[in-house]
Amino acid sequence: MHYISTRGRAPVRDFSGVLLAGLAEDGGLYMPHSWPLLSAAEWRCLRGLPYPELAARLIQPFVGEAIPSATLGTLCREAYAGFGHPAIVPLVQLDGSLFVQELFHGPTLAFKDLAMQLLGRLFDHVLAEQGARITILGATSGDTGSAAIEACRGRANIDLVILHPHGRTSEVQRRQMTTVMAPNIANLAVEGSFDDCQDLVKAAFSDLPFRREMRLSAVNSINWARIAAQIPYYAAAALALGAPDREVAFAVPSGNFGNVLAAYAAQRMGLPIARLIVASNRNDILARFFGANDMSIAGVAPSLSPSMDIQVSSNFERLLFELLDRDPGATEAAMQGFRATGRMTVPDPAWRRARALFDGFRLDDAGTAAEIRRLHAASLYLADPHTAIGIAAARALPAGPGVPTVAMATAHPAKFPDAIEQAIGRRPPLPSHLADLYDRPERFTVVPNRLSAIEACIRATVLRNVA
Ligand SMILES: *Cc1c(COP(=O)(O)O)cnc(C)c1O
Repeated sequence: MHYISTRGRAPVRDFSGVLLAGLAEDGGLYMPHSWPLLSAAEWRCLRGLPYPELAARLIQPFVGEAIPSATLGTLCREAYAGFGHPAIVPLVQLDGSLFVQELFHGPTLAFKDLAMQLLGRLFDHVLAEQGARITILGATSGDTGSAAIEACRGRANIDLVILHPHGRTSEVQRRQMTTVMAPNIANLAVEGSFDDCQDLVKAAFSDLPFRREMRLSAVNSINWARIAAQIPYYAAAALALGAPDREVAFAVPSGNFGNVLAAYAAQRMGLPIARLIVASNRNDILARFFGANDMSIAGVAPSLSPSMDIQVSSNFERLLFELLDRDPGATEAAMQGFRATGRMTVPDPAWRRARALFDGFRLDDAGTAAEIRRLHAASLYLADPHTAIGIAAARALPAGPGVPTVAMATAHPAKFPDAIEQAIGRRPPLPSHLADLYDRPERFTVVPNRLSAIEACIRATVLRNVA
């Protein structure tokens, strides 16, 4: 398997190359040069496999020759061994045709663990083969940072530096990051906003001598390996509900469009997915695109579902590339127009093709709290605010007779105790592995909002671990 950039001017790479590169040099995103297609008989053979084995089988075509399949199998088994549920991604039935797939049983209680736990191990394996060491640098407003830290703690060939805005993350989110004491992890609390943190990360990557010296790399959601690692749970749900002999639909709480893009990939691999509902909070740029071919930037407003408070969905470029018949020139022109004007519409036939599979949905905070209350009253099911939006979307847009809809539960309710308390009047307890989170010692360094200060901290972390 080889990978091409959506903008067509970056080197073609194999899976390991794409894993380490993240973003392509031409500013585009890497895509597999073609989709591996499974026949109905091949899908049937995957029914009933333990989740780690299903994952290894479905990720293998994207890895190609880069990693031996026995090694990939071991990495998948190890990645999911620490999950808090024996099914890894259990399905819960809410009514006759509505299901929830719980993607929050990993160490940091959000779906990002499913990809990140494998990614940390893939990085370590590839780096050991190459005898190399890298420094992963990232900014977080919450879930991504803790998932990356859990995935990289104690790994021999990786230093991980995560920037978060000092005093501006929730206490659960901060403690999930700052109570990890592994020597290869550094938490920098920046005296500034999340946007300042992102700008500092970009500035460090643009300082090319520093970037080379520190061998900087990234694990944000544009890394193709993260998308590939999210495909198996869609297959697990669909197979359990009768695929390939029955269609299914999914409702996906979306921000950067990475999770739902994995569902699209599963459909291109031959899984019979009838509908994909892209569920948003009040920051509804995606819903407006699928509703009326209007991709126009509005200001980001804070919501009860902060992991979806996003303006520009970085992974959307991958779908755009597909909608434009994989024409890199047209993709680049559309993205540059979007950056310049803050607006994008795609040619009508392309939009209609998108609409044949995708639908958009939007729910504000009042609706989200009402949905959490309603679910709890109806079945004692406790949904976090992101999940509640997905479930509301699935109820609002049923897929048709005989087609079940699966709403993706992207976070554990205990991760957002304030929103849950607002909705049902009590705070959900943390799962047992995190029950003492509030008693654990924290370690982080407060740094001024200045590139030189950040670079000094990164260098100190790396030197400490190489020495
Ligand atoms: C990251 C995140 C999302 C958004 O996922 P994307 O892949 O960015 O669309 C939704 N819910 C939760 C809880 C998240 O952490």
